[in-house]
Amino acid sequence: MDLYEYQAKELFARHGVPVVPGHVVTNADDAIAAAESIGNTVVVKAQVKTGGRGKAGGVKLATTPQEARDRANDILGLDIKGHTVRKVLVTEAADIADEYYVSFLLDRTNRSFLAMASVEGGMEIEEVAVTKPEALAKISVDAIEGCTPEKAAEIVDAAKFPAEVRDQVISILQSLWQVLVKEDATLVEVNPLAKTPDDRVLALDGKVSLDDNAAYRISSYDDMVDNSETDPIELRAKEFDLNYVKLQGEVGIIGNGAGLVMSTLDVVAYAGEEFGGVKPANFLDIGGGASAQVMANGLDIVLGDPEVKAVFVNVFGGITACDAVANGIVQAVAMLAERGEPVTKPIVCRIDGNNAAEGRRILDESGIALIERVETMDDAARRVAQLAAGK
Ligand code: GDP
Ligand code: MN
Repeated sequence: MDLYEYQAKELFARHGVPVVPGHVVTNADDAIAAAESIGNTVVVKAQVKTGGRGKAGGVKLATTPQEARDRANDILGLDIKGHTVRKVLVTEAADIADEYYVSFLLDRTNRSFLAMASVEGGMEIEEVAVTKPEALAKISVDAIEGCTPEKAAEIVDAAKFPAEVRDQVISILQSLWQVLVKEDATLVEVNPLAKTPDDRVLALDGKVSLDDNAAYRISSYDDMVDNSETDPIELRAKEFDLNYVKLQGEVGIIGNGAGLVMSTLDVVAYAGEEFGGVKPANFLDIGGGASAQVMANGLDIVLGDPEVKAVFVNVFGGITACDAVANGIVQAVAMLAERGEPVTKPIVCRIDGNNAAEGRRILDESGIALIERVETMDDAARRVAQLAAGK
């Protein structure tokens, strides 16, 4: 889960990374009180889970509380790269003498962590990485040893931080490492890490991604969840406890077992090429012991996606025998009809494995015209792609 800047800064503060305190408001009038309590020039910042807010007009200075309200008014409701601004952070504006960049991230390729640092922060760091790669220091950090004082010094010296901030940045890097480790983050990034005219170093922006697999042990995880930007179908799937990922195609996919579903995505994408580039609309693994109820929930989710034109149910019976799965499909169709949401899209089924013959018989004799049974996975993929293309 990516965090908002204000949430990232809360974690920074908890672990000793210096930040400027602020207030989050959701309407412009509340920005007045926030600015009054700060009593100084403030910066009003759009809270959206994307970068480049400054360039998009989402970060503005205000010298009076009335101005803070006006700037909040400008920023609330803005669309920044497809994200609508619903909250703004009001903080005391820092004077900036210099802007730096620091981050730690999980480096999957090297089975390690990577520290990146640059004295050319502020602007988009991706640009620095391309146009001036020598200005971006990259230092590997061992997961067990972590960011020791020596490692922090190595990073700071590699990036050529000036002497007057060296000790502060060494200390900040160690604190940031604590954020990464203690909060189970896969990314912590500060851009800009600013130097003030009196040589204090402050994190003026913050980006943190938490590892969802560790959600159960991150103390404030639930409090930080904000579903206002989450895909509504993914939200419903989560309520059903389903392993669902929305994709951009037209063929709904349901299978049992992550490996089978992954290969189903591949065969559908491949078969779809013949029909003008039809693609899978989702990943949905209903798991090993999938009951009729789980199949119904799965069909409900997949059929509820308006972009889905046809569904592919690909099941290999193992622990759960094919007749149970077939009954699940038939009952699911009946359940949806009873609920007043009758199935109107074709469902192509391929079932194989434990008790396949009985499962096939159940589907063939169900009398449900929208269910089409195909023997092999490749043929089923081709047929469902054809149906999704309307051919
Ligand atoms: P981003 O564009 O989404 O990365 O948002 P940032 O939080 O990094 O803000 C963008 C830019 O606004 C920064 O690079 C700064 O130049 C400026 N900015 C942010 N906070 C302050 C502040 O407290 N004082 C001043 N003077 N400028 C700020
Ligand atoms: Mn930034």
